[in-house]
Amino acid sequence: MRTIRATTGLEDQHNLPRFHYDIYAILEGGQELYFGHETQVNVNVVEKVKISRVDGEEIEKCYLSPTKRRGVERRVLIWAPKENGFLGDSFRCGVPHTCSQPKCPICRVFGGLITDQIKEESESEPRKATTMIGRLTHGGGVAIQVLAPEEKQRAMHPSKLQQQGEETPMPFKREYNEPGLLYPIYNHCLSMTESEFSSVAYAFMGSLARLGAGNPKGLKIFEDKLTGEMSEPWIVVDRYLSPIGKRPIVSPSITVIDEAQKQFKGAVFSIGGEKQKPDSKLIRGSFHRYIGDAAIVTLSKCIEQFEAEVLTNVDAETDD
Ligand SMILES: [Zn+2]
Repeated sequence: MRTIRATTGLEDQHNLPRFHYDIYAILEGGQELYFGHETQVNVNVVEKVKISRVDGEEIEKCYLSPTKRRGVERRVLIWAPKENGFLGDSFRCGVPHTCSQPKCPICRVFGGLITDQIKEESESEPRKATTMIGRLTHGGGVAIQVLAPEEKQRAMHPSKLQQQGEETPMPFKREYNEPGLLYPIYNHCLSMTESEFSSVAYAFMGSLARLGAGNPKGLKIFEDKLTGEMSEPWIVVDRYLSPIGKRPIVSPSITVIDEAQKQFKGAVFSIGGEKQKPDSKLIRGSFHRYIGDAAIVTLSKCIEQFEAEVLTNVDAETDD
């Protein structure tokens, strides 16, 4: 008889409360950015998406793809400092070779995959073929403004020159997303403990300075008036059991910053179909929404928890 498993594989971690968590944010490029896509006639091209608007007009926009953000976030965790080494090394967990162990703070959240039984050089036992379902999903990334990327001439990297035995730098052309583009982005977490969400919070905040291929890199959270008269980061963190909060997602058809802000804000202050008075915290039953600076406070607490539980010498399983 064939043996199957019908459970999540996380049954040994059922002693803590779980919630769904969402992060909604608008990111701003502080300088030109290259989100590599492909090379066409010696030009490195950035990733773009076509959008068909309600009136039939077709537009093209720059794109910070969720797949790219996911990869950068995972690497932020792999390269996180753990004692005198790296978090990924301490679990023998990398890309593409994930460790796929339920105790790994990276795989537990991002998922893991071992397609065939495989031997890691430092381990005595082979790793069995396994799948760990990721419970973190990424969305959004279509820029608000319609602004075509700029093509620029660049000199070849010195290391590549040596590889190819070239004497003089071979110039090449590369497209860049213009600075000041705004990218609405979303991270969704399915049934996580606070401790698991702390990995997500650390990866999310850590990835902001590292997004982009080559140099320069980095985005910041866009700032403007949100809950009151003060300028605040445009970010929302939800923690809930039932999805009653309107999701602050900007339609990719919108091309005007003002309109996008109105749509985002309208959703932020709407719970269970009812308009809310703007505030930094909105609570209804088990649904908690943290907005602007309050969202940063929430994420910062989680990041400190991650540092204490995972990056320092504490064993997350035994708590000592
Ligand atoms: Zn792992």
